[in-house]
Amino acid sequence: MSTDKIECDTHGQAFTTFVCQHLVGGEGLEWHSTEPDEENPWPDAWCGECNAAFEREGEWNEKSESEVRIKIVCHRCYESTKARCTVHYV
Ligand SMILES: [Zn+2]
Ligand SMILES: [Zn+2]
Repeated sequence: MSTDKIECDTHGQAFTTFVCQHLVGGEGLEWHSTEPDEENPWPDAWCGECNAAFEREGEWNEKSESEVRIKIVCHRCYESTKARCTVHYV
């Protein structure tokens, strides 16, 4: 579980999570991530567009990762964005 903290402009101190650039503040997008569990309640997430790179390579490797810009968001921003997206677990 991630214990890194960030200071969010909206939410104050919160946990660090990672999503692709398109999902930051996104709405109505496709949300792809592994299934959250106790160890990792906020797995890294990416959108439908970035998923095309993932599916082409079949995994996250140097090539697929080079096409995706990952942004840091707080876990509450993560959750509110996720609630506005269509969630697919890989
Ligand atoms: Zn994306
Ligand atoms: Zn936040």
